[in-house]
Amino acid sequence: MESALTARDRVGVQDFVLLENHTSEAAFMENLRKRFKENLIYTYIGSVLVSVNPYKDLEIYTKNHMERYRGVNFYEVSPHIYAVSDNSYRSMRTERKDQCILISGESGAGKTEASKKILQYYAVTCPASDQVETVKDRLLQSNPVLEAFGNAKTLRNDNSSRFGKYMDIQFDFKGAPVGGHILNYLLEKSRVVHQNHGERNFHIFYQLIEGAEEDLLRRLGLERNPQQYQYLVKGNCPKVSSINDRSDWKVVRKALSVVGFNEDEVEELLNIIASVLHLGNIQYGGEDSGNAYITTDTQIKYLARLLGVDGLVLKEALTHKKIIAKGEELKSPLNLEQAASARDALSKAVYGRTFTWLVNKINVSLAYRDETYKNASVIGLLDIYGFEVFQHNSFEQFCINYCNEKLQQLFIELTLKSEQDEYEAEGITWEPVQYFNNKIICDLVEEKFKGIISILDEECLRPGDASDITFLEKLENTVGGHAHLTTHKLADGKTRKVMGREEFRLLHYAGEVNYNVNGVCVRSNQLCFISSFAVVSLSLSGRFDEVLIRHQVKYLGLMENLRVRRAGFAYRRHYETFLQRYKSLCPETWPSWQGKLADGVSTLVKHLGYKPEEYKLGRSKIFIRFPKTLFATEDALETR
Ligand code: ADP
Ligand code: MG
Repeated sequence: MESALTARDRVGVQDFVLLENHTSEAAFMENLRKRFKENLIYTYIGSVLVSVNPYKDLEIYTKNHMERYRGVNFYEVSPHIYAVSDNSYRSMRTERKDQCILISGESGAGKTEASKKILQYYAVTCPASDQVETVKDRLLQSNPVLEAFGNAKTLRNDNSSRFGKYMDIQFDFKGAPVGGHILNYLLEKSRVVHQNHGERNFHIFYQLIEGAEEDLLRRLGLERNPQQYQYLVKGNCPKVSSINDRSDWKVVRKALSVVGFNEDEVEELLNIIASVLHLGNIQYGGEDSGNAYITTDTQIKYLARLLGVDGLVLKEALTHKKIIAKGEELKSPLNLEQAASARDALSKAVYGRTFTWLVNKINVSLAYRDETYKNASVIGLLDIYGFEVFQHNSFEQFCINYCNEKLQQLFIELTLKSEQDEYEAEGITWEPVQYFNNKIICDLVEEKFKGIISILDEECLRPGDASDITFLEKLENTVGGHAHLTTHKLADGKTRKVMGREEFRLLHYAGEVNYNVNGVCVRSNQLCFISSFAVVSLSLSGRFDEVLIRHQVKYLGLMENLRVRRAGFAYRRHYETFLQRYKSLCPETWPSWQGKLADGVSTLVKHLGYKPEEYKLGRSKIFIRFPKTLFATEDALETR
């Protein structure tokens, strides 16, 4: 048998709190690398699960694996997404508290796959009844539908979600899933009309063209060739080796009927998808300075039929704008450029609304109908981008990073609170810990009247000369001296060279980010923020990409999380479990201890030479401060 010493050497520790040097990023990376090499993609930081995308199928998601994690103690089995799923489920059942699993990380890190695995775990392991089977199917089948309309191939991920998703799974008093609800936000609508090189439009367009039966295509006026469509040629990437559009089409058609779309509704949906492709092929004639006119009448004919609108009205809408002057409605013609952008705006709006309609339809089918389910408990799954730091960061990155800042604050509060609660329950004195509380940054963003969002709101609503630059000036005047904000102006009126005139810099808990204010006043619409925690995903290729992973470790704030978690005791176990494992190391506790468990543990650790500052005894658990104390005991077990 391999000794504990060499096993730890080879596969690292399964919980980062057991890392000897917990403040060293190098040690953190080394532990991840060791585990990844052994196909161990999961590691804990306390109750947080860190996962590295293996980009290959591992045999760790079988029904057997699901069974292995059912009802067992979180720390007694190797880290797994199923352990997190099971733990949330049991907390919901026993403590009757709603739960939330937050999944964060960069694009391609494996967030959506993780959320699907959690959903599958519940579908397989939760109790069921006839009605529940339908709900389970609908919950599972909502994924292929949402992915067809909301996912696309990008440079980083062949199946990248281009929208954020928060999904509620509702359980009845027996613990059976009875319903669900999906909240979508920030669909990347611009993708409908433009894709970067090597990227594609949303999957559904290609699925329809490749997979639809001949007569359906004929009815929609489409040809079986994506290269025919302006909205599909920009990325120059009609085929992707990892994607089979034709078989995906079949999956999506079936999923649509499972989640409750009837034939008429499917037809309506496809009419709209086809319309977007026809819209994209509308071309205009006319000089840049002159009025635009439509040169492609076939498209208008199809559009009129598919959308049920009058062709002439449509033509006029695509070449004119309405203005209201002195109470009178006037039509003014558009030039070429204006007309093209009006056409694209219409396509984006049509697609965006269709997506919202689709999500609403799914929600109707997931809503539980029975009155007796009123008191359902809920597990929420949040699939959201982690910190985004690009060369050029705009309002979108500001929203995402603020959301992450809030989540970090919640995480700190929950972790510290649950530590404190446990110490109290165990009768152990709470010692205040040193950690960075990022509340100061959240306040800077959200405080009434003087927070960044307030200032932005005020500027956007102010009539007159309000602009991105006046917003920046106001920011300088109101919060210019803040420790976490830098603008290009220094207090003495001189300017800072390192920053652009249109930028401000926020010192987030995870690091510095420069934001460009260009267009910020236009885009400041709705912000998202949601609660709670548990899975973070890293890594982008089959190999262990040192630079990318290090970057994610930094911007997901994992070292900071570890610091908070390690502030107290690295390890704790129930007396019974502890005694059971190590009783053979002390003649007085071997083969069994007859007295009180606490006395047995006390006798055992004294015999092992634990120093008073290394451990504390609570009501039902032993708390060990440093990993090395525990490892010494483990090694003694192996070498005795
Ligand atoms: P994200 O939602 O974070 O952008 P995805 O969940 O879509 O990323 O994952 C991207 C790709 O990585 C998936 O399509 C899949 O090929 C691969 N992948 C993700 N998680 C796993 C996993 N646990 N095992 C194997 N492959 C995975
Ligand atoms: Mg995703």
